[in-house]
Amino acid sequence: MQFQTIIEPFRIKSVEPIGLSTEEERVRFLKEAHYNPFLLRSKDVIIDFMTDSGTSAMSAHQWAGVMEGDEAYAGSRSWERMQQAVQELTGMEHILPTHQGRAGERIVYGHLGGPGKVFISNTHFDTTRANIEFTGATAIDIPIKENEDTALLHPFKGNMDTAALERLLKEHKGNVGAVILTVTNNSGGGQPVSMANAKEISSICRHHGVLLMLDCCRIAENSYFVKHREQGMENLSYREIAQRMFALTDGAVMSAKKDAFANIGGFIAFKDAALAEACTNLLIITEGFSTYGGLAGRDMEAIAIGLQEVFDPHYLQYRIKSTAFLGDRLTELGVPLMLPIGGHAVYIDAKKLYPHIPPAQYPGQALVCELYRIGGIRSVEIGSVMFGTYAEDGSLKPARMELVRLAIPRRVYTQSHIEYVAEAFGEVMRRKDKARGLKIMKEPKFLRHFTAHFETL
Ligand SMILES: *Cc1c(COP(=O)(O)O)cnc(C)c1O
Repeated sequence: MQFQTIIEPFRIKSVEPIGLSTEEERVRFLKEAHYNPFLLRSKDVIIDFMTDSGTSAMSAHQWAGVMEGDEAYAGSRSWERMQQAVQELTGMEHILPTHQGRAGERIVYGHLGGPGKVFISNTHFDTTRANIEFTGATAIDIPIKENEDTALLHPFKGNMDTAALERLLKEHKGNVGAVILTVTNNSGGGQPVSMANAKEISSICRHHGVLLMLDCCRIAENSYFVKHREQGMENLSYREIAQRMFALTDGAVMSAKKDAFANIGGFIAFKDAALAEACTNLLIITEGFSTYGGLAGRDMEAIAIGLQEVFDPHYLQYRIKSTAFLGDRLTELGVPLMLPIGGHAVYIDAKKLYPHIPPAQYPGQALVCELYRIGGIRSVEIGSVMFGTYAEDGSLKPARMELVRLAIPRRVYTQSHIEYVAEAFGEVMRRKDKARGLKIMKEPKFLRHFTAHFETL
């Protein structure tokens, strides 16, 4: 018999209590946090969908690896294991450990960037963009047109617009720091990138002599979509698909806090020895020696094991289907979503949900606040709070989309948690006409969503 119920392919060995609260208490907590969920205390959150980053439940095997961690300053056994795991997966020889993804980004794009340089991506993740812009360089996003229409169904909505890539490479000839392919496309909706698109980008980059980097945080989730949606890929294993994608690029940066199931960590991988050497010098100055790069030996063990576990077909099927399950429940309630549902998160189109709140009053942030007040659910705005900029006259230049992301931690929540979230959304829908926008009271220059203070209007 073919079962319809997809079960979590693991049992729970260790539990962490959830602190329950009332709506009345949460109204107060939210005010104290200046209507910014990044300023809430985790003990006051019931379901934490803020991020899937570093929030995975590690396996018994990973925890056993933690005990095996070799904490030697140089030449650690755990580094050898991590290095080998990354080399086997990426097919790249030169591997640098970093304490998380953005540390790798700062090193690589700090080296390649600088004033006048241009970086081109299907969509730069926020930390990628910030690290590039911090060097004085420019970051340009060129997702395919279909990406903008949140309701449009497309199997690989994370793809890069290759005609735009050709045009930009000609326009910025001699000044391109790198082309960065982000898989899956996180800020663009957690949408996958096809092998065909990666191949085309690779050959365009080769032709123009431009470096192609893979932001491979969710390479296993991307491989799932490639296997099940792309012709000619169905007979390859998830791992083989990932290996083929790495083979098309010159280097990679990974946050191991995503598809490596680690609570901290990352790496840089290069085919080219000279680039690796330049980055190693920067690594030693700010991260640590090249055999630990800011990580403890135990973290490196957890990463080496996690990079194997994530390609388990039962895990990947559960992961992608359970994310889609939440999406289906919300669709039934009439919640406007970014479709199709991506790998690690469900994205709500707040502009459609709250048509009465203009972008300058941050409809996404309004939904984030509603979700917390109603259900103690923490989510994150991916819209004009995160990506908006100011025009010369001080008015807001809004982001392309006003999304709210429900990112699902790996192997953490069960189906009843998801049912609870759906119930909370029922109430969000009942109250939707009463939801109000916000204004920003205080903000830093970079990555303002992390620390900005808001007031309700
Ligand atoms: C999380 C993430 C990063 C940054 O990694 P950190 O470990 O959070 O520093 C970079 N790119 C993408 C696509 C990500 O999802």
